Amino acid sequence: MNATNTRLNPAERILMGPGPSTVSSRVLRALAAPTLGHLDPQYVQIMDETCAMLRSVYQTENKMTFPVSGTGMAGMETLAVNLLEPGDEVIVCINGVFGGRMKDVMERCGATVHSVEAPWGEIISDESAAEAVAAHPKAKLFAIVHAETSTGAHQPLVNISKLVHDAGMLFLVDAVTSLGGHELKVDEWGIDAIYSGTQKNLSCPPGLSPVSFSDRALEVMEARKTKVQSWYLDVSMLRNYYMGNAEGGRAYHHTAPINMTYALREALQIILEEGLENRIARHEKWHRRLRSGLEALGLKYVPSHSLHNLNCVYKPDEADDAAVRSALLNDYSIEIGAGLGPMAGKAWRIGLMGHACSQRNVDLVLAALKEVL
Ligand SMILES: *Cc1c(COP(=O)(O)O)cnc(C)c1O
Repeated sequence: MNATNTRLNPAERILMGPGPSTVSSRVLRALAAPTLGHLDPQYVQIMDETCAMLRSVYQTENKMTFPVSGTGMAGMETLAVNLLEPGDEVIVCINGVFGGRMKDVMERCGATVHSVEAPWGEIISDESAAEAVAAHPKAKLFAIVHAETSTGAHQPLVNISKLVHDAGMLFLVDAVTSLGGHELKVDEWGIDAIYSGTQKNLSCPPGLSPVSFSDRALEVMEARKTKVQSWYLDVSMLRNYYMGNAEGGRAYHHTAPINMTYALREALQIILEEGLENRIARHEKWHRRLRSGLEALGLKYVPSHSLHNLNCVYKPDEADDAAVRSALLNDYSIEIGAGLGPMAGKAWRIGLMGHACSQRNVDLVLAALKEVL
């Protein structure tokens, strides 16, 4: 086949997996707006507005809040490379894939990682967090995943934040899947460093990772003895572009992903128009409807403390995992997620994220599953 003669024509899927999630036509139209230069005053204003909207959605006053160029994993690396120096001790909670990745990323920064583990599908208990903090008083930070997308577990943060702060450590949170779908209050909950991703509950294409750092986290970065090992993700340079230098000018670091910023700005605008509380309530409402439908089909939830926007259920023994997912994709154009890691072949992950979280999609996926099963 001659590639130059074939047209790009992706299907209009309903994305109900662990991400990316369905993007609204408003956000897709924003992507098609004219590309500006990254130092054009019009673009700088659009970027400033985007950062201000991110502060609203993160519920923070943190000045250092901006979208890192890259997907959620780039946000994870940004926090790790800027906050850690070789020889540092850290505590990382692991109850699924993403906690395991944090450990790997932090070890690559030369840190000694003490892990707090819970079985897949379980949450990290306040008691085990307290034990780890007491056992490793020299740890610089304590890292935890708010929404563990690999198992669907919804991690409570407030009590753990308090005990981490009482021990003088920084509190670091992965909010890739929770931002815009679950309650998340960065300032009120005492979160010092946090990252998310555009393609999960913000309903934007993949490509940016909104991050935010508290003043305490900035002080830790400013007191570094060694250079940040990543040039691309070095916040001490990035801040001169995103926040402006001492004279208020913007220094070129790398070319900002201009059109993706438009898309993120539009996605955040949609969230603020709906209202954060209304949006969180909508996710809870349609989760309840999906949950009762799935349970009526005999499907059991994996986590005891489930997220609203990611529903991880055990696959029935008699069902063929791949065949069911391909029938949903080919016959209904619905994508759901397979199990990850130890859950591979054993579970399905049904996302109800942002634009895709509606009564229509809940009823459709339930009817389709019933038919296919
Ligand atoms: C998806 C996800 C990531 C990684 O994000 P990418 O956009 O795939 O790089 C990290 N943490 C959690 C909890 C996620 O769900």
